[in-house]
Amino acid sequence: MTGVPGAIETGAAIRAGRTSAEEVCALALSRIDDAQPRLNAFVDVFHERALEMARAVDTRLRDGEELGPIAGVPVALKDNICVQWGRTTCGSRMLERYRSPYNATAVRRLVESGVVIACKTNMDEFAMGSSCEHSAFGCVRNPWDTDRVPGGSSGGSAAAVASGAVPLALGSDTGGSIRQPASLCGIVGLKPTYGRVSRYGLVAYASSLDQIGPMGRSVGDVASALSIVAGCDAFDATSSERPVPDFTGSLDEPIDGLRLGVPRLARSAENHPAIADALSQAIVTWERLGAEIVEIDLPHAGHGIAAYYIVAPAEASSNLARFDGVRYGHRAALGAEEGLEELYRRSRSEGFGHEVRRRILLGTHVLSSGYYDAYYNTALKARRLIKRDYDQAFASDLHAILMPTSPSPAFRIGEKVDDPLALYLEDVYTVGVNLAGLPAISLPAGFAEEGSKRLPVGVQLVGQAFGEADLLRIARMFEAATDWGGLVAMEWGGRRD
Ligand code: GLN
Repeated sequence: MTGVPGAIETGAAIRAGRTSAEEVCALALSRIDDAQPRLNAFVDVFHERALEMARAVDTRLRDGEELGPIAGVPVALKDNICVQWGRTTCGSRMLERYRSPYNATAVRRLVESGVVIACKTNMDEFAMGSSCEHSAFGCVRNPWDTDRVPGGSSGGSAAAVASGAVPLALGSDTGGSIRQPASLCGIVGLKPTYGRVSRYGLVAYASSLDQIGPMGRSVGDVASALSIVAGCDAFDATSSERPVPDFTGSLDEPIDGLRLGVPRLARSAENHPAIADALSQAIVTWERLGAEIVEIDLPHAGHGIAAYYIVAPAEASSNLARFDGVRYGHRAALGAEEGLEELYRRSRSEGFGHEVRRRILLGTHVLSSGYYDAYYNTALKARRLIKRDYDQAFASDLHAILMPTSPSPAFRIGEKVDDPLALYLEDVYTVGVNLAGLPAISLPAGFAEEGSKRLPVGVQLVGQAFGEADLLRIARMFEAATDWGGLVAMEWGGRRD
């Protein structure tokens, strides 16, 4: 451990009067400013506003108000989550100057419980990518090795937490965007069940897959953030009415008779050796903890990438139609005689980057008449089969499914950026979970040695729908039995104090 306290610890220190929210916030802001030139993880930092929020929390606490366990803790938000007092750029020129007229429900809930919103984090444009190289504001660097990517698309949030700048962040996960950067940056990232967290105020990428979720350096911190943001919301018809259990209360109760499934594909020969090692070591750890490891089959998992890269772009092409320079987004400067068609064409060409344009073209193609059945409908059928595989696996009394989060540790900046297929294949272990709507968590599980650098490696646990409480307990068992987690990366030149 490095001595940089996590969210729960910080919250407790603030409540006990050992420090103040203002002091904690000022330190976080100075760490953010320190990290920014080297990591480019931040799009906006709320220097004044955050301190004001922190002072307000100190006042509320002094007045005897009961605030949540992480009141006063500074948190970073991925820049596709709307706040009223700053920009929400989605890492895109298209929204470079966009200011949301309202706060996302997740943000409103955090603020009500006394959490301090410190900054917005850099991301792949419109959350499309696995490396943060597709941001209009420059790529984010991995705090463990600044020549490498932090993963994506919530790479700015992952780097913010891994560098020690803030203890917690929110990301969004459509096909792996919380879990994969968490894995590449050595932190914990949870994608909740579809419907667990309101998506009101999350700029839509692929609406049948998108979820907001927490990223932190410990399972407990992630659980505490989930407890705040989870729950039904009248502004999001897809949010579930299921009651939200206390995710932190039961965390330290191990699960008896634990049964974990390991799918055959988890041991693919394509995995980087450090990933294969981390998985084998994780299995040994689980066995030592008394878990039964069951080999399972997810027969349609191999179709996950193909199905996802049809469904997600199809939904994106429709969601992104609103950015036309008239209703929303960048408007091209046009001569009076050039007309509406030209305004749309130029605004969208100037506003969107390459990868977003590629996805819109792909999505429009698979939805066009003559191709709809061949691509889109076929992908929906594959999606149903992928979900059924998970249902069948869980029907055999499994508590969770264990597999890698990503097939490789952090790769070098530029290494895959010109090869979209290679980047898409990074998502092989994550997209199926979104297609099935299930919760999953990525946990630190070891390191790959690359020259003088240590690169974090993660493993993923997939849970049953709305089974986050158990999933977090299982994750906590692993965390308590290993010492891969809770680390702050100092390789970028950061300081601990
Ligand atoms: N890497 C995937 C994609 O590019 C997932 C992104 C995400 O989860 N937002 O679409």
